[in-house]
Amino acid sequence: MLLRYNRAMPEISRRAASLGTENAFVVLAEVNALARQGRDIISFCIGQPDFPAPDNVQEAAIRAIRSGKHGYTPSAGIDELREAAARYMAGMRGGLPIRSEDVVVGAGAKPFIAYAILSTTDYGAGDEVIYPNPGFPIYESQIAAHGAQPVPIHLHESRNFSFDPAELERLLNKRTRLLILNYPHNPTGGLLSRKELEDIAAVLKKHPQVWVYADEIYSRLAYGKDEFFSIAQVPGMYERTLISDGASKTWAMTGWRLGFTSNPVLAPHFTRWITNTDSCASQISQWAAVEAINGPQEAAEAMKRSFRERRDLIVSLLNQVPGVKCQVPGGAFYVWPNVTEACRMIGAADSEEFRKRLLHEAGVALLADIHFGSRVPGEGQHVRFSYAASKQAIEAGVGRMADFIRKNTKKAA
Ligand code: PMP
Repeated sequence: MLLRYNRAMPEISRRAASLGTENAFVVLAEVNALARQGRDIISFCIGQPDFPAPDNVQEAAIRAIRSGKHGYTPSAGIDELREAAARYMAGMRGGLPIRSEDVVVGAGAKPFIAYAILSTTDYGAGDEVIYPNPGFPIYESQIAAHGAQPVPIHLHESRNFSFDPAELERLLNKRTRLLILNYPHNPTGGLLSRKELEDIAAVLKKHPQVWVYADEIYSRLAYGKDEFFSIAQVPGMYERTLISDGASKTWAMTGWRLGFTSNPVLAPHFTRWITNTDSCASQISQWAAVEAINGPQEAAEAMKRSFRERRDLIVSLLNQVPGVKCQVPGGAFYVWPNVTEACRMIGAADSEEFRKRLLHEAGVALLADIHFGSRVPGEGQHVRFSYAASKQAIEAGVGRMADFIRKNTKKAA
């Protein structure tokens, strides 16, 4: 809530007043308030692994503190982490020629969304940024806050939640400066196949002024049989692509705030943005991330296996719920079921009314499609479950949803 004062106060800027947010945090506050009243709520709202960071990572952080490694670091990060991240990012992307000086370490991957927009567009100049809709809400919010023009590209259920390259072709023009891609995708869990990325790259060939922000924060949570593939691997795309990855999702380190982005041209600019904002990422988290990358990967692999099992469980349960259709997403820890028919059955006007009723009447907390951008015309109603929750919670939560729909189904007149 913004505070309101009676007396005359200096003005808040239009920019700050119009800043968007991540509604996951807003719904979470609603859920916490209900929980404090003693309500039993099963929550599928939060986009973070439900595991602790691996023990070896925790120990590395403690060692860093105890050995006095807790002062400022260079803005781009400690050399050890830039080297490790360069090797790691290249290794899982077909051996791209990423050098440590191309990598910049930040306080999470999130700040690089802003730095990318700030480094490729000018305020109020009519520069356009294309971003996925539905999508991570911070893209649109940051594009607008930094005075560029947000241009959504619609994702379609019939294409496994990817977009039509012909639509991209229609949206691109000489004012386009940046294309944001995200795979595996929040909120749909969708992937972009190698073929789709090659098709996108073919379209981009005709628009050499456009940078690509490849948000690959869920790169290690891709469940397909093929290896992860980045658009930076398509010939001609490496120099113009910013690859964004980090520790949050892969090693369950969301609160440690540690991300890394690489691009040979933009790295020095990102470094200067960081000098202007955070100064550097936490040194403690940086040493922990060196261990996360270089140390044993069993914990990360076990988490991935567990997410995959839970994906299969939740998809099969959701497809048994009356009025619900759920595709099998290829990655991340989200499902994006179509609840158009369920809304109709219970007389809910849309997914947001459905979400609210489900929360208040059945104690199940979800996010609705409108929390991820304006609803795509013709695509119906969707909700997002984060299945980073226990199997028991998944079974009980989806069970409650099914009971709620059955109990509230309006009899045909
Ligand atoms: N991009 C996407 C698509 C995300 O879902 C998230 C986290 N929810 C981020 C970026 C930010 O991650 P980090 O914790 O590294 O800032």
